[in-house]
This record gives sequence, C-alpha cells and structure tokens, in this order.
Amino acid sequence: MAEQLRGKAVANAMKEDLIKRVEALKEKGITPKLGFIRVGARPDDLFYEGGAKKTADGIGLTYEVFEYPEDVSQEDFEKAVVEVGARKDIHGILMFSPLPKHLDEKKIRSLIPVEKDVDCLTVHGAGKVFADDLTGFPPCTPTACMDILKFYNVPLQGKKVVVLGRSMVVGKPVAMLLLRENATVTICHSRTENLPAVCAEADVLVAAVGRAKMVNADYVRAGQTVIDVGINPDPDRPGKFCGDVDFDAVEPIVDKITPSPGGVGSVTTMVLCKHTVMACELQNA
Ligand code: NAP
Repeated sequence: MAEQLRGKAVANAMKEDLIKRVEALKEKGITPKLGFIRVGARPDDLFYEGGAKKTADGIGLTYEVFEYPEDVSQEDFEKAVVEVGARKDIHGILMFSPLPKHLDEKKIRSLIPVEKDVDCLTVHGAGKVFADDLTGFPPCTPTACMDILKFYNVPLQGKKVVVLGRSMVVGKPVAMLLLRENATVTICHSRTENLPAVCAEADVLVAAVGRAKMVNADYVRAGQTVIDVGINPDPDRPGKFCGDVDFDAVEPIVDKITPSPGGVGSVTTMVLCKHTVMACELQNA
C-alpha cells in the first residue's frame, strides 16, 4: 500500500507560518490584501473564489472582489484592471480566466503589475519563473506540487522526474521548478511516443493531462512517487471528481501518491495566500 501524500497536512503547516507573517505585517501597520478580478459568475470561478476566501480568512489575509459584467467592453475592462493594479492597498491580484471571447486576454493580462502577479498570468511573471528570479511567482498549482514534495521529503536532486502535460498553467512551470531542485526532467505531451514506458522510468511522475484516470498500471512501477494534478468529473461516479491517475489501479503499485481530490487541490489556495503575503512583504521591504 502506498503512502498517501495528503494536501491538508501541507496546507496546515503553511497556515501556521502565514498566520505569523500576516501578524508581523499588521504590527507594522500593513494589511496584506488580495484582489480577485472576475468577469461574470462562472460556477468554477465562484467555487475557487469561495475556497480562497475561506483560506484567506483562516490566516487573517484580507481581500476584495472586483466583479464585472460578461459584456464589459475591452476599454472599460482595461481601465478597471489598471485601476486595481495601481491600488497601493492591493498586494496580489488573481484574475479568473479564460475571459469572455470578445476580450483581448493577452493584452489584459499584461496590465497586471508583475509584482502583484501572484498566479503567473503575465509573460513578465513567467519570464521571472523561467529565469529562476525568486521575485517572480510561479502559478499556484505547480507551487503546490513542489510544496507537497518538500513536505513529504521526496528526494528530487538527480532523480528522474516525468511531467505529463506541457501547459503554461501546470506542465511547463512545474518542470522549471523541478529543474531548480536539480531533478532530471522529461516533459511529455500528446505526441510523446511510448508514453507509458517513458512514465514508468520516472522516480517521480507528475500527471497534469486533464484526462480522467488516464495514468493506469501500465504507466507506473514500484518505488515511484506519483503527483496527480488532475481534477476531472469522475466517469464512474456521477457528481464526483477524480484525478488524471487511476488511483485504485496505481496506488497498490507505487511508493507514494497524492489522492485527488485531497492532494494538490487542497494546497493551491494556501499557495495563493502565501504568494500574496510574499508580494506584500516584498512591496514593503
Ligand atoms: P491542459 O491545458 O488541457 O493541458 C493538458 C496537457 O496534457 C497538454 O500538454 C496535452 O498535450 C497533454 N495531453 C492531453 N492528452 C494527452 C494524452 N492522451 N497523452 C499525453 N498527453 C496528453 O490542462 P492543464 O490546465 O494543464 O490541467 C491539467 C489537469 O490539471 C486538469 O485535470 C486540470 O483540471 C487540473 N488542474 C488542477 C489544478 C489544481 O489546483 N489541482 C489547477 C489547474 C489544473 P498537448 O500539449 O500535446 O496538447
């Protein structure tokens, strides 16, 4: 039976540290604040926002929601984002995406000040992450993967790590963060040949494909650590969610595994808060 790398323990440990850091800022008269920018009210966005607010409340981080109608014009929305970005009392910004199709998302993302870009929405922010500039914030999900690996003492230096998926939100940035830890990283995608065999060679496998239960027993071997980033509707249990890993098939084989739900997703909103606290500290250094 594999050791389950649960996210809650990781988030709880981070919470203790963040409570102290928020208190220290407040003693200096600074109240760290996160700004949510949301167009419309998609259920997924509202769900994430609700979770993030609850996490923020738990550490004493304040927040403000900037909500705009679905038909907001490019001009009005650009103005609004610039205004939020200029607010001295807002230290971190999370903008929900994708934006409605009539908006030029690339241009709007670029209006978020890089020092407040706590979920790596800007090209400048991504550049910092890829250049190992520690003032840049990687997206929250890859950071959550790294925080889990660190918390559970999974060795990375010199180890073979396979990242399954190459999105800008998960695959590419997590590969960069793993490289920073001196892992030997292979990035796989939909055109990779012999995918199960490549994955089975890894010491650590990070699955971020967005395909329910795709990673089955053929992709893994004894001794591996498996990080399942996926959150998908469960085809076998209507109304429930499952990962990109077929947990029931893989768990008996590998050494360590994150459940999904209950793994990476449980750490992500705490990372968002951590990045906002860090942004506030850096802006007031
Ligand atoms: P994405 O943008 O759709 O990217 C999926 C990646 O997987 C792509 O690089 C794609 O390859 C690759 N892929 C798709 N099908 C494949 C196949 N059959 N074989 C090999 N590679 C394949 O997804 P994402 O945004 O990175 O998200 C990935 C998963 O993480 C999703 O389940 C999502 O819900 C979840 N997620 C979780 C969190 C969290 O907080 N836990 C946050 C964000 C996302 P190509 O590039 O070749 O198309």
